[in-house]
Amino acid sequence: SIPTIYAITPTYARPVQKAELTRLANTFVSVPNFHWIIVEDAAERSELVSSLLEKSGLKYTQLNEPTPREDKLKPSDPNWLKPRGVLQRNKGLSWLRKNVDANRTDGVVYFADDDNVYDLELFKEMRSTKKVSVWPVGFAGYLRYERPIVKRGKVVGWFTYWKPERQFAIDMAGFAVNLKLFFDHPWAEFSRVNRGQMESYLLSSLGVTLNDLEPKADDCTKVLVWHTRTEAPNLTNEKKLKAAGKSGTDLNVEV
Ligand code: UDP
Ligand code: MN
Repeated sequence: SIPTIYAITPTYARPVQKAELTRLANTFVSVPNFHWIIVEDAAERSELVSSLLEKSGLKYTQLNEPTPREDKLKPSDPNWLKPRGVLQRNKGLSWLRKNVDANRTDGVVYFADDDNVYDLELFKEMRSTKKVSVWPVGFAGYLRYERPIVKRGKVVGWFTYWKPERQFAIDMAGFAVNLKLFFDHPWAEFSRVNRGQMESYLLSSLGVTLNDLEPKADDCTKVLVWHTRTEAPNLTNEKKLKAAGKSGTDLNVEV
């Protein structure tokens, strides 16, 4: 049978959460042998996420892991200041290590943030990952795309603006890892201290070298995933309704 794709998605409550997760679910139902590991950044698992997962028909695991208050990004902070989703992705990894038998299951692990856009072709490409596969990411790094530089079928460096000298100058959405690697390196995980170096840190701790990387998407010439960021909706008229003595929208209506 074909290897299972385990997608680990950190997610947190905000007005657009349901819309984001609906878009992801609608993509993922079209992917064969797919297991969605969704990790809520919250003290408890939410009803909103459970019913969405239930309804999706997907194979899934719903987990939660709260980010400590001092590690949270404030609305006034620039978005590169603190890494997001770190503890949640690590929670997903420890679930895999405890619940999947890597000797009996062929798997590929992908870190799928909830606000990106995924072409179905991407999952076909990553399915054959032997160690670590890589590809371009649209809109990453304040460019039209960032991508690995490929020469004669091998990754030789990184096309990025910011710190191309990083060992693995790649966005979270730009790589997938064979499940076995997480069992061969049982302590490998994401680190909170490394902002903007998170991906590089993980891949180094998995004992990966540049030479191991498997370029996908036609030698990294095609963009199959986009690092989109959803604008927070403007809800200022909610307050204005209340200020005018009227009731706001019905909070029993889930958005
Ligand atoms: N995230 C989270 N808790 C937070 C902020 C973000 O779990 O407090 C999740 C978010 O839902 C996403 C991932 O972490 O799946 C990356 O966050 P975001 O997309 O905001 O980061 P960026 O794309 O700007 O690096
Ligand atoms: Mn994002």
